[in-house]
Amino acid sequence: MTTDAYAISALMDITPRPPAVFVKGEGSWLWDHEGKRYLDFVQGWAVNCLGHAPRVVADALAEQSRRLITPSPAFYNEVSLRLAGRLTRLSGLDQVFFTNSGAEANEGAIKLARKYGARRGAHKIITFEGAFHGRTLATMSASGKKAFEPLFEPKVPGFAKAALNDLASVERLITPDTVAVMLEPIQGEAGVLPATDQFLRDLRSLTEQAGLLLIFDEIQTGIGRTGKLLHYQHVGITPDILTLGKGLGGGVPLAALIASDRASCFEHGDQGGTFNGNPLMCAAGLAVIEQVSRPEFLAAVAANGGYLADRLASLSRQHGLGPVRGRGLLLAMSLPREIAPDIVAAAFAGGLLLNAPRPDTLRFMPSLTVTPAEIDEMTALLDKALRACLGKG
Ligand code: PLP
Repeated sequence: MTTDAYAISALMDITPRPPAVFVKGEGSWLWDHEGKRYLDFVQGWAVNCLGHAPRVVADALAEQSRRLITPSPAFYNEVSLRLAGRLTRLSGLDQVFFTNSGAEANEGAIKLARKYGARRGAHKIITFEGAFHGRTLATMSASGKKAFEPLFEPKVPGFAKAALNDLASVERLITPDTVAVMLEPIQGEAGVLPATDQFLRDLRSLTEQAGLLLIFDEIQTGIGRTGKLLHYQHVGITPDILTLGKGLGGGVPLAALIASDRASCFEHGDQGGTFNGNPLMCAAGLAVIEQVSRPEFLAAVAANGGYLADRLASLSRQHGLGPVRGRGLLLAMSLPREIAPDIVAAAFAGGLLLNAPRPDTLRFMPSLTVTPAEIDEMTALLDKALRACLGKG
């Protein structure tokens, strides 16, 4: 395979990439510049909740692009108001600030919490070891990813790291300076490590008793990924601040910071951004929400997630691998050794896109519209890649 026809060196080399240039996508499938077809179980890192190039999103974008692309966030626009109304009703929260990326939504959540705490001189936010909240300086500082530790020093101060599923470790970090606790209900980048439902309930009680805000980063777990529209709907609690991204735009850059009336304290001049609430992106968001919020759609995600988990568990038993974890269509499989990058490369060569958040873990995040037949096809391709890497084939 050659990519000589493309100016590959014109892009900043920020990550290792395989030698393929993608030119087309449809549903669970991608095609590269040589016409090779791939089954995609990464989907833009859990972004394409309706698969590649979904008709409803393409139509919404085409129609909106002929009506109004952007009037500036200094004016109301109809589409962002409709989407904000849908999101507040569905989330049980009250006010939305749209952003262009998940990191920007989390940066906004951090600013909102600091603004809220400033009334009593509190600014510290408790986050978690292993957490990933984005790549702006503040969200990298909030993250608990080991690889971030030496980077871009000095970090933004004001984040203390607790251990996931260990309430006492949170309690120990609370001081008069603390304003909020922020977490992903399932740590995706750390290898799909779920907070237990009980831990999330206990955290809700603790933050209420201590007068702290609870911030849920549902950028990866939201928009139906775990079989409910929002992960906290499994648990029966509501956070004070919620961030959404990835699936929200169905592939288009759209994210949101959503807050309860109590927490929503920005005043004029505190927050903004040129493209925020852009009608074009919000039209995509509305099209996505129409599909994903339907109970039948969410039931199918839960059912297909269960089927994928079963298929992975039987593959794992067959090859003597580790446990399968996660919820809905955000799953991971542990490997006995650090061979995940080799398996990802072998799968890629065989026409399957997989992701390895850690060297000993494979992550599965297909389109929410994935079919049982595609899950079977993925299982067969993965089986082949495992045989090649484990030396059995
Ligand atoms: N938060 C979580 C939980 C994520 O998984 C991600 C991205 O992977 C982000 C935040 C950052 O979102 P973005 O890459 O859109 O800035």
